[in-house]
Amino acid sequence: MDDDFMLLENCRLCPRNCQVNRLEGELGYCRAGSGFDIASISVHLGEEPAISGKNGICNVFFAHCNLQCAYCQNHQISRRDCKLSGHKPALHEIVNTIKRILNGGVESLGFVSPTHMIPQMKAIIRALHKEDYFPYIVYNTSAYDSVEILKTLEEWVDIYLPDFKYTDPDLATRYSDAGNYPEMAGRAIKEMYRQKGSTLRLNENGVAEWGLIVRQLVLPGAVENSKKVLRYLAGEISERITVSLMSQYYPVPQVSKIQALNRKLTRDEYDEVVKEMDGLGFTKGWVQDHESADFYRPDFDSENPF
Ligand code: SF4
Repeated sequence: MDDDFMLLENCRLCPRNCQVNRLEGELGYCRAGSGFDIASISVHLGEEPAISGKNGICNVFFAHCNLQCAYCQNHQISRRDCKLSGHKPALHEIVNTIKRILNGGVESLGFVSPTHMIPQMKAIIRALHKEDYFPYIVYNTSAYDSVEILKTLEEWVDIYLPDFKYTDPDLATRYSDAGNYPEMAGRAIKEMYRQKGSTLRLNENGVAEWGLIVRQLVLPGAVENSKKVLRYLAGEISERITVSLMSQYYPVPQVSKIQALNRKLTRDEYDEVVKEMDGLGFTKGWVQDHESADFYRPDFDSENPF
């Protein structure tokens, strides 16, 4: 077993700091074990242009998550109590699936919500390197990460792709059961910035090969929160970073009882956040069309969720 897996013996991979022994079957908040619980490996063309490129990114979706967002658009696989159906692949099968996708001209390998599965992520990357596959590694995270663990990823991750969801602890508690999210995510993104700086380096095909992109998903009824997130990024980090502003929120069935979340974002709400972003001087990144909610509805019961 790789030394990295010893981190699971007293799990402090994320700010939940559960200190459970996942190697002995104990389960912490995320309820993830010590195996390769993978919900999907698939090509995704709908990420930011520099992430998807023209051939898409190979995304590895781990099951479970250390953040439990009420509105999660990947709720089928991210719930703590989610059950994976069917065959659980071994490492060599996972690597073979990824290699097949990379052989089709895909240049990047994304790990989606990997915080609770870092030893497994490293094992996959290490196995690919052994076979002379060196895709760009994208760490696609909620940013509810531990700075100490992020420091160990400096040589492993090429592109950090964190969300920055909230600066408001009440909202973070209500929607994601993580009142310390603003503080932890702020620290985590500062560490990512320390490692990568503000230059997003693209290769000759326009695919990101190095850097940091911060995502902000605008939630209905939470315009002030989004504006404060952008102010934090500009003030505490830099307005020179690359920001991806997202309007793709849509209400999943799980939010039917949460009135504020049980609707789409309005055009006026989104425009207000876009205006704030422009006013703060961000010049690098992407602003989704307001209609994007109609196009981003993954279904993890199908072979290709996107
Ligand atoms: S990764 Fe899971 S078990 Fe480990 S500290 Fe975070 S929530 Fe707890």
